[in-house]
Amino acid sequence: MRSCAFVFADRQGKMGLGRILVRTFADFALPPRCPVCGVTVEENHEFCLMCWQQLEFLAGPCCIQCGEPFAFERSPESKCGQCLAKPPHLDGVHAVVRYGDVSAKIIIRLKYGGRLGIAELIAGHLHRLVAEGDPADMIVPVPLHRSRLWSRGFNQSVLIAEALGRRMARDVSHNLLIRKRPTPPLKKMNNAERFQTVKDVFDVTAKGRSLLSGKKIVLVDDVYTSGSTANACARILKAGGAQKVTLLCWARVCHSVE
Ligand SMILES: [Zn+2]
Ligand SMILES: [Zn+2]
Repeated sequence: MRSCAFVFADRQGKMGLGRILVRTFADFALPPRCPVCGVTVEENHEFCLMCWQQLEFLAGPCCIQCGEPFAFERSPESKCGQCLAKPPHLDGVHAVVRYGDVSAKIIIRLKYGGRLGIAELIAGHLHRLVAEGDPADMIVPVPLHRSRLWSRGFNQSVLIAEALGRRMARDVSHNLLIRKRPTPPLKKMNNAERFQTVKDVFDVTAKGRSLLSGKKIVLVDDVYTSGSTANACARILKAGGAQKVTLLCWARVCHSVE
């Protein structure tokens, strides 16, 4: 119930009160169900065994900057060839699972099925990934353009960020980073096209500029595909004064580099 109150108060993540109440009822009054296949499970916000076994949790060696898994064991500070050749704006990328059928279904249920409990589930996993020794000053969700927000009714990244913020006892900075214009779906574009499409789409608000100086930012998104969107956000946040920007996301597309 508490999470929905936050959702209702949140400008980027807003839904209508009626929809919230329906979702609240569905999420909390009915027996807990696996968010992927719908079978009954013991606790809210957990997967059934079958779906759990199909998720590939990312825990092995990876590039310290872009998070791409290494095919072989490397020293913990290693960077992949791509990050060495052309350093990205993001200082770190931490994903819970490899992008695949089951991890994608979870995001689809959240984005298009309005299953708000999934944001709580994802945030629980993201909280594990937050570096204990290097606390973030601010949590910033990747914003949607307002036209997309109106049509979908909420921003899934805000819902995840809010749930994470409650676990970290940190406020979420909604109105610091904005998306200036809508972008077409990036799905069918190659990396160069994605980069061109999103490179000047984000901006930092005047209020944001006064708050960002020297800050360590945790950027929150649902899925990391090519990194174009998150890096465009990191670039503008750093141009606005942020010291460090690290992405936390649910799933990432992996290529396993050497
Ligand atoms: Zn299941
Ligand atoms: Zn890398």
